[in-house]
Amino acid sequence: MKLCDMTIHELAALLRAGEVTSTEITESVFDRIDQVEESVGAYVTTARDQAFEQAAAADKRLLQARKRGSLSDISPLMGIPLALKDNICTRGIRTTCASKMLADFVPPYDATVARRLGDLGAVIVGKTNMDEFAMGSSTENSAFHVTRNPWDFERVPGGSSGGSAAAVAAGEAIGALGTDTGGSVRQPASFCGLVGLKPTYARVSRYGVVAFSSSLDQVGPITRDVWDCAIMLRAIAGRDERDATSSPEPVPDYCGSLKETDRDFTIGVPSEFMHSGLDSGIRELIDNAVRALEDAGARIVEVSLPHSDYAIAVYYLIATAEASSNLARMDGIRYGFRAEDAHGVQAVIRQSRSEGFGPEVKRRIMLGTHALSSKHYDEYYLKALKARTLILGDVKEVLEKCDCIISPTSPTVAFRIGEKLDDPVALYLMDVYTTIANLSGMPAVSVPCGTLKGLPVGAQLIGRAFDEGTLFRIAHVLEQACGESVKRPPLEAMKGGRDR
Ligand code: GLN
Repeated sequence: MKLCDMTIHELAALLRAGEVTSTEITESVFDRIDQVEESVGAYVTTARDQAFEQAAAADKRLLQARKRGSLSDISPLMGIPLALKDNICTRGIRTTCASKMLADFVPPYDATVARRLGDLGAVIVGKTNMDEFAMGSSTENSAFHVTRNPWDFERVPGGSSGGSAAAVAAGEAIGALGTDTGGSVRQPASFCGLVGLKPTYARVSRYGVVAFSSSLDQVGPITRDVWDCAIMLRAIAGRDERDATSSPEPVPDYCGSLKETDRDFTIGVPSEFMHSGLDSGIRELIDNAVRALEDAGARIVEVSLPHSDYAIAVYYLIATAEASSNLARMDGIRYGFRAEDAHGVQAVIRQSRSEGFGPEVKRRIMLGTHALSSKHYDEYYLKALKARTLILGDVKEVLEKCDCIISPTSPTVAFRIGEKLDDPVALYLMDVYTTIANLSGMPAVSVPCGTLKGLPVGAQLIGRAFDEGTLFRIAHVLEQACGESVKRPPLEAMKGGRDR
């Protein structure tokens, strides 16, 4: 197996033992990028020179630590090549949100999550492609290029963190960060056969992460297994003085809790989620996953989330309302794209926004502005907030008696590129299982649970607030029982190239 195809924890062990160097791992990753990136299109920007400098620095620190016998003080992320979604600000590396609006924006500072990874010695490979401003589920809304699913180049990698998922699946990064407002970490992880976590709201700092919907956004890891996901969450979680919404709740040792063998879990299966509209193949794999958990010692109970039918409508009202407000700062005046021949303040703003934003972003701004307008506020936005409270009540009630709720992550496997381009509502409906976790603030993870016609399927586990530890333990059981077959896309598929 090539270095670029291994997990973070495997590589960390090799690095500590002095059997490989970070420079070698970074070379392996960039060799893979040279080989497949033209076909996959996972990145907006790669930072090759800086990555090799970081790798050399990590090698030095590892060598010193080995000499001093202080390897235990070193993070498992030391020297590991990681990718960041392109809405996470990186000092000196452009951060575009895959929008013409920010195509030339080079942030003068690092997002806290980027800084934390850097401080721990991680190597930043580059910035990954996404749906413009994280609005979408396929990465087709990028202003730059589409990203292809390494399992099948004719299909989308999911979105909006599709570039991060494709990079990790293709061996173009060992792990990655994405952001998840309504499913954007979990759904691409599911489409690409990876583990993806949306942490509890407030668990991870959002300082320096371009805001989409501030009451829903979270940053989360996309990795090759649950263990790696636990390593990455531990690195990025915790209070940040620069983000007043981040929680002071202590960050537990997630990897330590993975070693506990107690499997006395209670798992809720919501009757509403296993309805007849669900693809029968996916339903079978989720049933399998439930049985596997039961065989491992878990207690399975049927539960109900009576207001879950409203989740999509509520999500698309709240998310668009908040987005319309957050994106007001893109006015062509202070930074970002400015239309060339516009004169006067009004014209500069109007023309810059007309030319700078893509069609999906404009649609969302219009929807959100409408929902917030004085005439419609009570009817749409306020009503959505009330329904959100009901959904939260449902989830809380279930989680009083269950350790987690299991469901599919997505109602389908990765679909074909272009297949849903003309039907935005069909795409919105795909978020049916994921938005509940954002609306309620609860943590949720997608774990591979099998394949359907050669394409990966993920199971979603929604857990209790700030109890990612339990979620990881259940996810780990599931991974051991049914995730093996899903580990990596067949490499031959990647050699074919774009015109295969
Ligand atoms: N698919 C959802 C949307 O389009 C989720 C996006 C996200 O989580 N960033 O809004």
